[in-house]
Amino acid sequence: MRLSNGEALLAWPLAQHIITQGWRYNSGKSHNGIDMRTVIGNTSMRPVYSAEDGTVSATQVWDGHTKDERSMQSYGNRVDISHASYKGKALLTRYAHLSSICVKVGQKVKEGQLIGYSGATGNVYGAHLHFEVLLGGKRTNPLTWLDDAYIVASSNVYTYGPGEHAVERPADAPAAVNGLQIIKATGLTNAQAWEVYMLATKLDLLTMQLYVAKFADANNTTQDVEVGPVTQGDAKQVLTLLDKLGVQGKATVEAVQDAA
Ligand SMILES: [Zn+2]
Repeated sequence: MRLSNGEALLAWPLAQHIITQGWRYNSGKSHNGIDMRTVIGNTSMRPVYSAEDGTVSATQVWDGHTKDERSMQSYGNRVDISHASYKGKALLTRYAHLSSICVKVGQKVKEGQLIGYSGATGNVYGAHLHFEVLLGGKRTNPLTWLDDAYIVASSNVYTYGPGEHAVERPADAPAAVNGLQIIKATGLTNAQAWEVYMLATKLDLLTMQLYVAKFADANNTTQDVEVGPVTQGDAKQVLTLLDKLGVQGKATVEAVQDAA
């Protein structure tokens, strides 16, 4: 997803965001990607999703035996997706060690679209997803392109350090005393309000009546929308959507104060 400031905020390729090896291995050796845990419960085959809208630029089927790190075959079954360029440089995401591939070269995919299932093909110590982000053909630290909703499998896992590019998020909302926030956006078009409604549905806010909208003009062409009180995580998703819709300027964020 591209933010209003031109930054690319990629979506997580798995539903579970557990990092087992970072941009540098725990040994300190460079890894050039991240590994994500896929073995949860009794299956390691997890749906893998495209990190952003794009076009499938390559797929590779593993030959079933090559594990040599110098060979592309070490990635096992692999998908590469090319996205809109970032600051004039080609942006590509790579998904490796898959058990199966659901897309074809040249196919257009949407952010969040299923592209395959995780597995243990290629040069692996066990089932996991290896994820890379390449900018201008050079591998970069994937964690600098993703939001910070992840956990690390151990305290040794490298995340990212000073000087590494990080997505500049839209302005942070004020911190709330109890962590809850209310977002009010006025004068949204019906289409924009619909997008917020859909996100609120996804976040399961409707059943708790945490999404309220009312028409803001006599002709029913604009709406005032209120979301909350919600957690800062949910608030961030709403603010990111408003930013994507280009209406963050119409929104205010209120911290919910403790009654005491
Ligand atoms: Zn890896």
